[in-house]
Amino acid sequence: MTKLIDDPIFLTKKLIGFRSITPDDGGSLEFIASFVEQLGFQTRLFSTKGVKNLFARWSPKSGFKRTLAFNGHVDVVPPGKESLWNSDPFSGDIKDARIFGRGSVDMKSAIAAFLVALKEIIVEEDVNCSFVLLITSDEEGNAEYGTKELLKWLVKNDEVINECIVGEPTSSKLVGDTIKIGRRGSLSGFILCKGKQGHIAYPEKAVNPVEDLIDFLSKLKSLKLDDGSKFFEPSSLNISTIDTNNKALNVIPENSYANFNVRFNDQHSCSSLTKKIDSLASKHNEESNATLEIKYKCSGESFLTEPGQLSDLLTTSIKETAGVDCKLSTGGGTSDARFIRDYCPVVEFGLVGDTMHQINENTKVDDIVMLKQIYKNFLKNYNKKV
Ligand SMILES: [Zn+2]
Repeated sequence: MTKLIDDPIFLTKKLIGFRSITPDDGGSLEFIASFVEQLGFQTRLFSTKGVKNLFARWSPKSGFKRTLAFNGHVDVVPPGKESLWNSDPFSGDIKDARIFGRGSVDMKSAIAAFLVALKEIIVEEDVNCSFVLLITSDEEGNAEYGTKELLKWLVKNDEVINECIVGEPTSSKLVGDTIKIGRRGSLSGFILCKGKQGHIAYPEKAVNPVEDLIDFLSKLKSLKLDDGSKFFEPSSLNISTIDTNNKALNVIPENSYANFNVRFNDQHSCSSLTKKIDSLASKHNEESNATLEIKYKCSGESFLTEPGQLSDLLTTSIKETAGVDCKLSTGGGTSDARFIRDYCPVVEFGLVGDTMHQINENTKVDDIVMLKQIYKNFLKNYNKKV
């Protein structure tokens, strides 16, 4: 049986010790399940296509009206070249008041902070709401069988959650200075430009797909998307690769390829952008001898949890605990909040994300303690409100 750990630093160190490279949980989910069972949580560990997920619920004996969920992931990105690390990436070494290791920022420390906060609230307070944990081991990978599966499982088992907090690192410089109330959407495009192969000395007998693609990409880059909206930065379109696979110096190749990605705000959707870009491509095709074909992958629509009760409660708890004024943001990459937003209001709040995914990922130990205190105060305030 897992001993209940009171110290969020020690618990973070323990979690870092599980080699949970996505989508492997490395045994960490059993550990967390056993930890929360001692607090009286009912747990359910299940796996889909080799991905493990943990659902856990704690309810007061007297019944409850509302449920607050916490979502997080135990999986981490690979450490990269381990010899470049100053210490073993799975040791959780503490040096100069910082804890080092893969997942120390993203996001085992947030899980540890939340678990200790929960423990303290359950022991110290008269709690009349219910708490749910949705912990996955497939967030850093393709996220197909992680939080999405947990949410499907909720519906199948008549489990309801009313609000959710995601422990991703959202802070900018100080713990609590930024929370995320939405995220931009992400659409990737894969362009194939078909030309006609030929001798480079006789360009008139060929159709150059490289030059044609460059021409199209410059039109794509100058496509005006928007000027931003109330809670979002302007959308941005960026080209990630351009290629021909052509090694010969005297050949105009048959095809060329380019990929791009659009991070878009609430003024667009994957389908509206696809339409817009396709129409640009058809117009280009009419004027050119080469032919463009574009395939798309939508990784997530943009979403916004309108500022309201949940974000107010969190910003107040941050101000009370850390004395920090909190900014509501929608920037950065995607997260599992994009799936949860279909089920209930969701906000994200965690540590300062400076070193996430880097060699020697680390965070200040004091920041983990502060995060635990803020989570605890938030839980306390949530309990008071319901
Ligand atoms: Zn993360």
